[in-house]
Amino acid sequence: MSTTSTAAPVIDLRGVTKSFSGQVVLHDIDLRLEEGTVTVVLGPSGSGKSTLLRTINHLEKVDRGQVRIKDTLIGYRQSGDRLHELSEREVLRQRSRIGFVFQQFNLFPHLTVLENVVEAPVSAQRRRRTEVEAEARQLLARVGLADKAAAYPRQLSGGQQQRVAIARALALQPDVILFDEPTSALDPELVGEVLDVIKELARDGATLVVVTHEIGFAREVADTVVFLDGGRLIEQGPPAQVLDNPRHERTRAFLERVL
Ligand code: ADP
Ligand code: MG
Repeated sequence: MSTTSTAAPVIDLRGVTKSFSGQVVLHDIDLRLEEGTVTVVLGPSGSGKSTLLRTINHLEKVDRGQVRIKDTLIGYRQSGDRLHELSEREVLRQRSRIGFVFQQFNLFPHLTVLENVVEAPVSAQRRRRTEVEAEARQLLARVGLADKAAAYPRQLSGGQQQRVAIARALALQPDVILFDEPTSALDPELVGEVLDVIKELARDGATLVVVTHEIGFAREVADTVVFLDGGRLIEQGPPAQVLDNPRHERTRAFLERVL
């Protein structure tokens, strides 16, 4: 449904091309994400999935093309052949509208769970600490960790740490949340609790991009599945099409390997 709608996209990539020292890792990517949709990104290791997310989040500069978040162009624009860049300050402001959840959680080890969630809204968005703290407690309750506010990350399981990371991303009140293999570092028995939290966000209407190898999750939750290979967007569409009836041999071969 999301691929045919004409609603304004939350994120719109056009012709995004990115290379590292001469090697092209993203080839001319076009991708639109509409509000309230879940996009699952699949692809073999090295296919450019993380680079794609990092580009959306402005952690990587593109060589060509444009990245638009809501109605704001972030970073780059082509007029003629010239790329225009935003100031660092504007980049930071834009980035704070995007949540990012990493494979390795990346919590601050010296801060409590509550402080981890409160940190960015206070420092990057200059919001009032008392107000943010009240919200942070609600977010911790939402991810099932109300009783862990005073704990330190090392005292938590991987699944709990990742749920803190999700609460931290939500605290920014982001337009979109990007997940880069959020369950890959977890013991198998902890994967479900993290996927359940992500599913709940999806049900609540959040706009999500999830890089994952969890095909069952993709089938259940995704509006759109995107398959990347060798930095090219090979195929995209609803899960029933891409997962059950892939058009491309490369998609088919990949699915046979992971299923
Ligand atoms: P994936 O997340 O799908 O495994 P990545 O986006 O991490 O793939 O990487 C895509 C390609 O870009 C790989 O060949 C990787 O080695 C290369 N790459 C990623 N980041 C860098 C970097 N900072 N410097 C040089 N090469 C990089
Ligand atoms: Mg990756």
